[in-house]
Amino acid sequence: MNEYDSLIIRNMLQKEGFLLTDSPEKADIVIINGCVVREKPENKEIELLKYYKHRGKFVIAAGCLAQKDKDALLAFSDLVIGPMDYDDIGTLIGKHGAFTDYSKHRDRFYRYAKDRMEVSFSEYVTIMTGCDNFCSYCVVPFTRGREKSRSAKDILEEVENLTKRGTIEITLIGQNVNSYFHEGVDFKDLLDKVARLGVRRIRFTTSHPRDISPAVFDVMARYENIMPWLHLPLQTGSTRLLKEMRRGYTTEEYLYIVNTARKMVPDIVISTDIMVAYPTETEEDFEDTLRIVKEVQFDYAYMFIYSPRKPSSAYYRYKTQIPRDIAVKRHRLLVDTVQRIVTEKRKKMIGRTYEIMIDGHSKKNPDLSRGKTRGNITVVVNKNIPEGEILEVKIVDVIGATPVGEPI
Ligand code: SAH
Ligand code: SF4
Repeated sequence: MNEYDSLIIRNMLQKEGFLLTDSPEKADIVIINGCVVREKPENKEIELLKYYKHRGKFVIAAGCLAQKDKDALLAFSDLVIGPMDYDDIGTLIGKHGAFTDYSKHRDRFYRYAKDRMEVSFSEYVTIMTGCDNFCSYCVVPFTRGREKSRSAKDILEEVENLTKRGTIEITLIGQNVNSYFHEGVDFKDLLDKVARLGVRRIRFTTSHPRDISPAVFDVMARYENIMPWLHLPLQTGSTRLLKEMRRGYTTEEYLYIVNTARKMVPDIVISTDIMVAYPTETEEDFEDTLRIVKEVQFDYAYMFIYSPRKPSSAYYRYKTQIPRDIAVKRHRLLVDTVQRIVTEKRKKMIGRTYEIMIDGHSKKNPDLSRGKTRGNITVVVNKNIPEGEILEVKIVDVIGATPVGEPI
C-alpha cells in the first residue's frame, strides 16, 4: 500500500517539475511516507523526520503516519500530508501545516494512479481504500478511513493502460480485497474481468478469512494468469482470542478455508500474518497458534509482537501487556517453528520445475538474479537475467530457506 502511495507522490511531483535524487542527503525536500501499524517502525520514521529536519531539509510526513498524530508531527516536520491530500502536494511545498482531511478527494487519488510517468514490469493497482473491520488491535481504520471500493471500469482501464505500456504482473491491492463491492460487481467478478484482459500474471492482497469465498478460488482455478497465491492473515490460532480481536472467524473456519483453497486451486501457496502476545494471550492460546501453524504448514509467514496502538479499542481496553521477555520468547518460538516448516517445504521443491519472473539482483553480485514463482516464492538463479523476464527453472538446491534454480 505504502509503496504504491510513494509511487503516486513521486509521479505527481515529477510531473510538476520536481527532480528525483538518488539519496536523501542530496535532496532539498525529504518525504517520509510512514506506516504506523506497529510502534517500532513509527518511532523509526519519527527519528528520520527529526534527522532530516535537523539537517535543514524541507521535511514532509506523509501516509498513515500523517493521519495519526498530525499536531505532534508538526513539531519536527514542515508539512504533514495525508493520502487524500497528495494531489495538492506540489502547491503545498514551502508552506507549513497539516493537511489530513479524509472526507475529500478520494476519487482524485485514484485518477492520479492512472496517469503514471514511469511503468514497471510489475505494478500495484488499488481496488479499494480504507477498512471497516476495526479489528481490536488495529490502527488502519483510523488512519485510512472508511472502506471505499473503486469502480470496476476505472480499475480495468488502469490495468489495460499498464499492460499496453509493458506491465506483465498486476497486484490488486486493498486492506481487505474480498469485501470489494461496486455497483453490483464483487471481488470474484472483478478478478474474472481483470483475468480476461490477458495480463500475464495477476495477484491480489490482502484477503480476509471472514470475507473470502470459494467462488474466488473457483475463478483462480479457471484462469492460468491468476497466480496460485493466497495471503490469508490468521493472527492467532486461538478462537477465544480471535473473538477478542473481532476477526469474525474461528480457527475451524480458517482451516476449512485453507483446505478448500488447496482442493480447488492446484499448487496454491498460502502465506499469513501472525501476532503473538496480544494482552490477554495465555500459554494455551499461544500453544493453539503453534498447533494451527503446524497443521496448516504455511509456505511463509510474517510474524509480529503485539504493539498497543492508539486509538484502537485494545489500546484502551487492556491496562497491562504481556511482559516483554515472554513476548520475545513466544515470537522466537513461533519464528523457529515456521522456519522449520518452511525449510522442509522448500527442500521438497528440489528437482521440480517452476516458472519464475525475475524481479531483482543481489546487491553484492549482479550475476545473482532473484525471481518469484507463480506461488510468490523467491528463487535465486546464478545468472544475470534482466528484470521482468519469465523463465522456467529447475530447483537444484536450497540455501537457508531460499531455493536455488537453474534455467532450463
Ligand atoms: N488488512 C490486512 C493487514 C493489516 S496490517 C489484514 O487485515 O490482514 C498487517 C499486519 O500487521 C496484520 O495482519 C497484523 O498481523 C499486523 N498488525 C496489525 N496491527 C498490529 C498491532 N497493533 N501489533 C502488532 N501487529 C499488528
Ligand atoms: Fe486492520 Fe483488521 Fe482492517 Fe486488516 S482487516 S486493516 S487488521 S482492521
